[in-house]
Amino acid sequence: MKPVIALVGRPNVGKSTLFNRLTRTRDAIVADFPGLTRDRHYGHGRLGKREFIVVDTGGFEPEAASGIFHEMARQTRQAVAEADVVVFVVDVRAGVSAQDHDIASYLRRLGKPCVLVGNKAEGMQESAHLAEFYELGLGEVLPVSAAHGQGVRSLTEHALEAL
Ligand code: GDP
Ligand code: MG
Repeated sequence: MKPVIALVGRPNVGKSTLFNRLTRTRDAIVADFPGLTRDRHYGHGRLGKREFIVVDTGGFEPEAASGIFHEMARQTRQAVAEADVVVFVVDVRAGVSAQDHDIASYLRRLGKPCVLVGNKAEGMQESAHLAEFYELGLGEVLPVSAAHGQGVRSLTEHALEAL
């Protein structure tokens, strides 16, 4: 069985862009509008000889009430449940949000292997932007730029090592 890597995070952090990088397909809908990709979306990825499955998620229903179980789309919870490792994507330009905290606490409770990824990190010199994400309690944030393809290989290595 190929390991399954699920991409989760609030809308607009760059999950679908990252999905396209990881799978080298453009199957996911990359939108400038949060929440457009509502369903799970599967793709095949490869790092050297290691093959894996990537699951993109629409993440959160924008109009839903607050609280992780209401807010998190059912498909996303299922994607996390069937994943071997979760890649939790945050936006280093936007900083830590309340939704990030909700997702983080859900993932901490779940206890599944998790890699915290700080997207949109291109051109960022200062680690101060990354340090605030420690408060999510999921360890160090791995800076990537899905749009520019930076740090994506390192992210894949970390995800496969976390298995
Ligand atoms: P999703 O809602 O999490 O799937 O996010 P998308 O992949 O649809 O991306 C949301 C927006 O962020 C789009 O306008 C992307 O072009 C932009 N974006 C994605 N990755 C990056 C990145 O690495 N850097 C920057 N600056 N923008 C990005
Ligand atoms: Mg998306």
